[in-house]
Amino acid sequence: MKVEFVDLKKQYHEIKTEIDSAISNVLESANFIGGEHVDQFEVNFRSLIGTKHCISVANGTDSLFIIFKMLGIGPGDEVLVPAITWISSSETISLTGAKPVFVDIENDYYTLNTEDLQKKITKNTKAILAVHLYGQSCDMDSLQSISEEKNLILIEDCAQSHLAQFKGKSLGSFGAASSFSFYPGKNLGAYGDAGCILTDNDQYENKFRLFARHGAIVKHNHVIEGMNSRLDSIQAAVLNVKMKYLAEWNKKRLNVANIYQSELSDILQISLPLTRPNTLHAFHLYVIRTEYRDELSKYLKESGISTAIHYPTALPFLEAYKMFNHSYTDFPVASKVQNEILSLPMHPNMSTEEIMFVVQSIKDFFKKKQP
Ligand SMILES: *Cc1c(COP(=O)(O)O)cnc(C)c1O
Repeated sequence: MKVEFVDLKKQYHEIKTEIDSAISNVLESANFIGGEHVDQFEVNFRSLIGTKHCISVANGTDSLFIIFKMLGIGPGDEVLVPAITWISSSETISLTGAKPVFVDIENDYYTLNTEDLQKKITKNTKAILAVHLYGQSCDMDSLQSISEEKNLILIEDCAQSHLAQFKGKSLGSFGAASSFSFYPGKNLGAYGDAGCILTDNDQYENKFRLFARHGAIVKHNHVIEGMNSRLDSIQAAVLNVKMKYLAEWNKKRLNVANIYQSELSDILQISLPLTRPNTLHAFHLYVIRTEYRDELSKYLKESGISTAIHYPTALPFLEAYKMFNHSYTDFPVASKVQNEILSLPMHPNMSTEEIMFVVQSIKDFFKKKQP
């Protein structure tokens, strides 16, 4: 038996008729940039999450950069960002000329550790990037009160947390602005690159849209210099189809997580993911922890099961950030976690047989370790 980490082929075949017709509709209209599919996407997505505005962009890295840049973050400024996340979260801060300041993560939930975060606030700190890693909500109550008290801009990176909730409210509706990625493997994925920005603020919406469209909302009337970051019509059409299934797919992910949780809970050598109280986890990834990570992933691979590590090196320890001279003791949790985390296969199309095969293989591995 082979178990894929994600299975986008299976998903496509489930909705093939609708997808093919949506794409051929774009092809027939020969309207490849802008137009009704893109407009419809923006309306659909902002209603789904519950914000006033949605600005579609080319990917979930551009969306972060545009937010930072248009909220006035630049040289001399510092932005607080978790030590474990995808590099987009920090490289876009540097791209504006500002400095990413890494914060250790919580041992239980893998999101920003608010104690360490408070220690890292200086007179140059301008913003906090709340990354809802793996689909787990950050502690939004604490982050909101800290950002209000210290006058910092709170921004959300929701690339892994589509439709996840904190206290009944969708993530992406808490910050001054929030960033989404629709990279194919995300909970809501396009068939190529795609992203968007959400905000309730009219002025911000104007700035983001203007910057992403070469500084011109009215053709040829460039009021500022900007960039080209657009969602194309084919991706918008695909997302409009897939968006209808997102809640159902997230439920299926939760079901996979629940089976893993109940079946693996008596293996003492692994820690299973916890869900923060009063939140809805999107389970973009199901991340376990074990001292035997490398051996286990090798064993699973030989059994036909693909796993992954998100991420093998915490950002402060990457070569890209060697100028900060960070040591492991600066980030005690992140430096331990990076050596123990393992993402198990997780997608809405996993069959019970596939889930149980993963479970059984993990049990076999630990049985063989301790006969
Ligand atoms: C995927 C991802 C991004 C970047 O999205 P792209 O669309 O690939 O540019 C940003 N932040 C996080 C946490 C991500 O997982």
